[in-house]
Amino acid sequence: MVGFLTRLFSPQCRSPLLSVYADMSVTCKEYYNPNQSMLELVFAPAEEWISCSDSEIIDATLKELAKLFPDEIAADQSKAKILKYHVVKTPRSVYKTVPGCEPCRPLQRSPLEGFYLAGDYTKQKYLASMEGAVLSGKLCAQAIVQDYELLAARGKKTTLAEAAAR
Ligand SMILES: Cc1cc2nc3c(=O)[nH]c(=O)nc-3n(C[C@H](O)[C@H](O)[C@H](O)COP(=O)(O)OP(=O)(O)OC[C@H]3O[C@@H](n4cnc5c(N)ncnc54)[C@H](O)[C@@H]3O)c2cc1C
Repeated sequence: MVGFLTRLFSPQCRSPLLSVYADMSVTCKEYYNPNQSMLELVFAPAEEWISCSDSEIIDATLKELAKLFPDEIAADQSKAKILKYHVVKTPRSVYKTVPGCEPCRPLQRSPLEGFYLAGDYTKQKYLASMEGAVLSGKLCAQAIVQDYELLAARGKKTTLAEAAAR
């Protein structure tokens, strides 16, 4: 996009349509460009958009951006101009938090001995997010460390039993 947004990153608070968006030419040094913006924007929830054409999605995006950045962007592209775009549709990309779903989230220590789970969907205090994924990994590692001696002792017993059976 020709034109430069000074906005770095937005959480879901300014727009009912765009869940998060960032100007990658500002936030990532790999995309740094003082003259152009490379925007990454996420529609969420996207149920009503997933079947729309790319051009309908781009039109809606521009209209929304024009509301958010009226000085830089106009829906008819009379201000910033789109040079290139790519629409990616990923259905079911994050789990949907609906009433009653919390008890369905599994613990990191599974009912199967020696089998552990990590991922944003597992039980931790955040929803589907990078923070949730990291925290689940920490909780998973903690559970493994806590169980290590027990598992190691079981492993030794199994090895001894295997040796005795030979
Ligand atoms: C478009 C989009 C925008 C987002 N924006 C944000 C944001 O701004 N901030 C934020 O905090 N979070 C955001 N999220 C959510 C965040 O990306 C996820 O919550 C996080 O990546 C989850 O991490 P994870 O490790 O649990 O799972 P994932 O990152 O999904 O990792 C799971 C991995 O397992 C692999 N896998 C799956 N099945 C198999 C299999 N059978 N065998 C081998 N490998 C397999 C997958 O390929 C994947 O690499 C966004 C998500 C999407 C989709």
